[in-house]
Parts: sequence; C-alpha cells; structure tokens
Amino acid sequence: MFQKILIANRGEIAVRIIRACKQMGIKTVAVYSTADADSLHVQIADESVCIGPPKSNESYLNMENIISAAVSKGAEAIHPGFGFLSENSAFSTLCKEVGIRFIGPDGSVIDKMGNKSKAREIMIDANVPVVPGSKGALESIDEAMKLSEKIGYPVLIKASSGGGGRGMRVARNKGEFKNQYETAQMEAINAFGDGTMYLEKFVENPKHIEFQILADKYGNVIHLGERDCSIQRRNQKVIEEAPSLISEDLRTRMGDAAIKAAKSVKYENAGTIEFLVSGNDFYFIEMNTRIQVEHPVTEMVTGIDLIKEQINIAAGKELKYKQEDIKLKGHAIECRINAENPKENFRPSPGTIKLLHVPSGHGIRFDSFIYQGYKIPPYYDSMMGKVIVYGETRLDAIRKMRATLEELVISGVDTNQTFCYMILNNPDYVKGSFNTGFIEKKMSFLMEYTE
Ligand code: ADP
Ligand code: ADP
Ligand code: MG
Repeated sequence: MFQKILIANRGEIAVRIIRACKQMGIKTVAVYSTADADSLHVQIADESVCIGPPKSNESYLNMENIISAAVSKGAEAIHPGFGFLSENSAFSTLCKEVGIRFIGPDGSVIDKMGNKSKAREIMIDANVPVVPGSKGALESIDEAMKLSEKIGYPVLIKASSGGGGRGMRVARNKGEFKNQYETAQMEAINAFGDGTMYLEKFVENPKHIEFQILADKYGNVIHLGERDCSIQRRNQKVIEEAPSLISEDLRTRMGDAAIKAAKSVKYENAGTIEFLVSGNDFYFIEMNTRIQVEHPVTEMVTGIDLIKEQINIAAGKELKYKQEDIKLKGHAIECRINAENPKENFRPSPGTIKLLHVPSGHGIRFDSFIYQGYKIPPYYDSMMGKVIVYGETRLDAIRKMRATLEELVISGVDTNQTFCYMILNNPDYVKGSFNTGFIEKKMSFLMEYTE
C-alpha cells in the first residue's frame, strides 16, 4: 500500500479523499492555489504545497507544478478527484513516466473513453446501444447538416471533450443548425480547448441513469448498481439518487451493457457508464473515467467506500467483491448545494460564510469544505458541498432530505438550498414521475418559495 498520496484537487472532493487516506493510514499532500491558502483541504492534509496563482490553468491544471510537488514530497501516487486533470490522458501518462501511480485508468484508456466521440465509436463496435448519431467526430458543418436530415431533427450537437453539461446545443431544425453548431463549438473551445464536435439525435425527455463500475488490473469488473441523475438544470446534475426506479429487467440489461463497455477497453479503477433511458430502451452517452460527484449515493446503498476502492485498485489489489456480493439496500438521495442565486438565473455567489449549521443524525452526511468564516473564492466551481441522506425506502429518504434541508443553515452567500427543497416537495418528484426535463418544466413551481 502507498505510504503517501498527493491530492491534485480542491474543494469537497479533496477533503473527501484526504479523509479516506487518513482512515487507511496513508499520509497526504494537498496542493493549493494562492486563492485556496485557507481552504479546508490544506488544513487537514499532513503536508501542502502551493502550486500557483488562482487561475486553474496556472495551478490545478499545471501538470509540471503538481508533479514537482509530488516528487519533492515523496508521494507515490496522485489522486486527481473529478474535474481538473482527472480525465486528462497526458497527465495520467506523465505520472507513469515519472514513476508515480495515477489513481485512475491508464492514459491510453482515458484517451479512448474520455473523448466522447471516440467512445461512441468504440461502443458501436462493442455492440453497446448508443443514441443514433454520427459514428465519430464530425468533419464539417455540411456533413453534420446532411446527417441531421438523415437522423431527423431535433439533434444535439456535442463537444467531444465536453463535460459538466457544457459544449452542447440542440438544433430543432435546419434553419438554426449552423448557429447552434457554432455556439456549441465556441463554448467547447473556450472551456476545453478543443472544438471537435459530434452529433446525436436529441432524445425527448429521457431519464439519465448511470452505472458505477469497479475494475481491477486482473480483469475483474463489477458494477455497483445505478444512479438516477435526471434532476438537472442545463444538463448539469442537481439531485441524484440510488437506486433508480427502473425495472429489474432493465437493470440487468443495462448492468450487463455497462460491464461489457468497461471490458471492451480493458478498463481499470472506478468509472461510470452514463445512459439515457426512454421507455424500455437505453442508450450509452458517455463514460466518465474518474470518481463522480454523486458517488456517495452508491456508497450509501452498497456500504462500499469508493475512494478506498480506487486506492486499493491503484495499489494493485484484487477486488474483494464479486458481482453476486453486491446487494443494494435502502435508498439514498444527494442534493448538490451551490453558492448561487436561483433568483438571478443561478448566478454564482462567492463570499464569506457568516453562519453555518450542519444537521446530522442517522443516515445523514454532508460532504463539504466550507466552515464558518471561510471565504469562498470566485475562481472555481460554485458547488459548496453535498447533502446525502439514506432511508429504508425512497419516501423515508425524501422525508429525511426535507428535514435536513429545513435545518441546514448557510448564511453569507446565496444558495440553491430552498430550490432543492422545493424539488423534494414536488408531487411528481415524490411519485417518481420525472425526467431530464423536470426542472425546466416545473420552474415556476420551484421558484414559488425560493428566496
Ligand atoms: P459528474 O459527472 O461527476 O456528475 P459533473 O459533470 O458535475 O460531474 O462535473 C464535475 C466537475 O468536473 C464539475 O466541476 C465540472 O465542471 C467538472 N468537469 C466535468 N467534466 C469536465 C471536463 N471535461 N473538463 C473540465 N472540467 C470538467
Ligand atoms: P457531460 O459530458 O456534460 O456530462 P453528457 O453527454 O453526459 O454530457 O450529457 C449531459 C446531459 O445532457 C445528459 O444527462 C442529458 O440530460 C443531456 N443529454 C445528453 N445527450 C443527450 C441526447 N442525445 N438527447 C437528450 N439529452 C441529452
Ligand atoms: Mg455526463
């Protein structure tokens, strides 16, 4: 097992990983930008290294500085968390070259699956159902428009390097195609430095259902059930739950496809296969070759600590579970708590946390990095943390989440807390009658009491 791990991330996921390391008896090295000197991950790590100024490009995305920090502190492995360098194949490869274990898949695997249009091609070849669309990347707007006619509008124009819901636009007809294509591409170039685009049929009102995979270096691949992440705003998840409300038959078919997908690229470590579900059909949309934001709901219903499993796998251990050992029990829900103002089109709201009261109790978890007096810097993601609850049934979990959100106090910055609370109180949400169009459709209901 590793003696020391460097965590190449910030915020709640860095805190989450450092805690897991401590529990495993592993020493930790935090890295931070000058904007994060007071951040919790720096305070709870054994050692820390400043890796640059606030801008991500010069700090959390600065591979040389991060590798230097790992080498100078003698870290044997690097955990990349999510976002930042977590799906960067060059970084995974660079770690390998300098003899540091990257806690995630090999660069060659990230290359295949991290690129969304390439992943589509690979899935088509592996007979995993994908949304109708382009085989791989698009060569030109002309080609894209011809293909759109063939598959039929509306279509979704997507960036190969996209993530976090960015770099995609719907074209409802031929007339708006060019404009939407250029807008999506521009966003992709700005956000990911890559304007490679591909095309999918726009599936109307699907559910987003994803499978958690664990794979070791000996070819053992299992799944830990699924999560429903259909509650999204602008293709970005807000509330997730496990398990989903799909039938046992669909669960089996999708689980098998997810394992097939992972095996087809000889996947290693934790990963997620994302699908859209429409009626009884399901379609692969992408694989995330990293830990995901919503991993705690899976931890709650399986009892397995996914970060510890990631570390064990990277250290070369064999998976200690077989598929038949995985039993889903109860129901878990997660709300992402963001520093943003729903009343002002969800504008980010950085600032100082004046008062913080965190509810606790049986089956209640708050994964966060904020503390009273902490100043949330304006440079990064607005997510402050995640409230996760576990109940015996879905209704138990819903009630527990409502009670938890009622009690949670975060003052000093605007939050989406009451917005989430309103979702938990919507009759259709409670009934389980929702899809990825839910938030948009229910916006006036959700805003009614949102201050
Ligand atoms: P998840 O897929 O785990 O639900 P999100 O899509 O919300 O997570 O992304 C998690 C974090 O990673 C967010 O901060 C998001 O902006 C960032 N992120 C996701 N994909 C990418 C990417 N391709 N490039 C840069 N950042 C990304
Ligand atoms: P990201 O890399 O940003 O996470 P995804 O490809 O996973 O992008 O898609 C994010 C969300 O966008 C999905 O969960 C879904 O709500 C929506 N979406 C993606 N592809 C389609 C599609 N072909 N049809 C309808 N909605 C889609
Ligand atoms: Mg996705």
